[in-house]
Amino acid sequence: MIAATKAKIVPGRLLIDGQWCDGATKFDTINPASGEVLTQIVEATAEDVDRAVKAARKAFEDRGGPWRKMSASERGRLLWKLADLIEKNIDELAELETLDNGKPIFESRYVDIPMVVDVLRYYAGWATKIHGETVNTFETAFTYTLREPVGVVGLIIPWNFPLLLASWKLGPALACGNTVVIKPAEQTPLTTLRFGQLAIEAGLPAGVLNILTGGPETGKAMVRHPGIDKIAFTGSTSVGKEIMRSAADSLKRITLELGGKSPNIVFADSDIDNAVKGAINGIFYGKGEVCNAGSRLFVESKVQDEFLEKLVARAKKMQPADPLDPKTRMGAIVSQEQMQTVLGYIEAGKREAKLIAGGNRVSLDGGKGYFIEPTIFGGVTNDMKIAQEEIFGPVLATLAFDDVDQVVEQANRNPYGLAAALWTRDLKKAHIVSRQLKAGTVWINTYGLMDASLPFGGYKSSGFGRELGMNALEHYTEVKTVWLNMA
Ligand code: NAD
Repeated sequence: MIAATKAKIVPGRLLIDGQWCDGATKFDTINPASGEVLTQIVEATAEDVDRAVKAARKAFEDRGGPWRKMSASERGRLLWKLADLIEKNIDELAELETLDNGKPIFESRYVDIPMVVDVLRYYAGWATKIHGETVNTFETAFTYTLREPVGVVGLIIPWNFPLLLASWKLGPALACGNTVVIKPAEQTPLTTLRFGQLAIEAGLPAGVLNILTGGPETGKAMVRHPGIDKIAFTGSTSVGKEIMRSAADSLKRITLELGGKSPNIVFADSDIDNAVKGAINGIFYGKGEVCNAGSRLFVESKVQDEFLEKLVARAKKMQPADPLDPKTRMGAIVSQEQMQTVLGYIEAGKREAKLIAGGNRVSLDGGKGYFIEPTIFGGVTNDMKIAQEEIFGPVLATLAFDDVDQVVEQANRNPYGLAAALWTRDLKKAHIVSRQLKAGTVWINTYGLMDASLPFGGYKSSGFGRELGMNALEHYTEVKTVWLNMA
């Protein structure tokens, strides 16, 4: 039975210039565990985008206004207060995230929302540490740099970690003194709307944070808008390319966090039981709807039979269940559309490789929810569709290898380069292989760890720019050089 919810569903309105506003066109947001409509959400139009951008511009430029007058220390305190409010409402936010996305409440409550709090606190601390430099040039000149906010930034967010990925952008954007127009994904807008309520409660001045709900058309209107100075986008590689083309006209700044097909490499000398756990976590955490999912598992031939036997046994225990049950580790796929995409890849996999676990849609509670079994394919080769394309679901392709050079070459032979992992007891080999892998993050003897202080982002078609850590601050500031002639 899919548990009844206590979470208060937030009204689906837009936040523009500190006011909640309605709109003429609405769309449904669905609970993927039951297929039922949670609420209706406003589809923001190009006019709404324009109003939001004007509000953000005014809040940014207004010299006597509350945002400009606020000291860096006050901005930091405000972000910290917002983090406190999120922590205070953590149960409600976690439940909203699970209802909207279908992810297990265990993940929302103990990973996603706590990390939102952490990220905001991390950037609250940075607000007072963003500065330029004085540089010695000539005796007759005084030269220095200023590090200034970029201006109005447009943030476009995907549905897989809705509030968490929003916080990766909101934290540095606000700490650096920018104003924001943010668009959550159309599938999962609820936690961002609740965040807007908490931002008002924390005292964020009107116009500093504007929230526009809607789909691709709203996103396109943001990218086209000449009043937006920078777009920070997380989502698919195809949309990332479209944004890059569109942004070329205005030369607005862009950072892109895109897809992945990350290799997870198990050497025969690893702690096999730990590596099995890591492989399961790497692909089935977040239902595999994770940009850095370890979806290509390379296992050294010598240990392949033992490894796959243990892997399949664990996967079979991880059956999909009610996402609101704290014991559940496999939730519902985010939407019917995504479920069909994943099932399509499973069919393609059955044609080219050997299905060794799962492979089916699961019917729970009347069969209206979008659940898929943890699925594993054996006998995969690197050129197969299921080894090359991002599936974004609980589907693992396993490949065999015999030596280090071969596995490095295969791991790198893919358009993406977001993350990679390797399992071995040989530290020298671990460091050598880490250097050879073309990926923005490499995990050794673990999978998927993140911290607010460590940069995250992609090589190759996984995008460019880094989020988190001090590296993110670069992308939300411009550097100005000032010369004073003292001759
Ligand atoms: P998506 O690209 O379809 O949509 C992402 C966001 O962009 C949504 O808000 C959507 O409304 C908006 N959008 C869609 N078309 C647009 C357009 N033409 N112009 C402007 N905005 C547009 O991606 P998705 O299906 O929501 O998310 C899944 C993808 O995101 C996967 O490829 C995944 O790997 C990637 N992702 C990457 C990271 C990372 O950090 N690298 C993290 C999470 C997800």
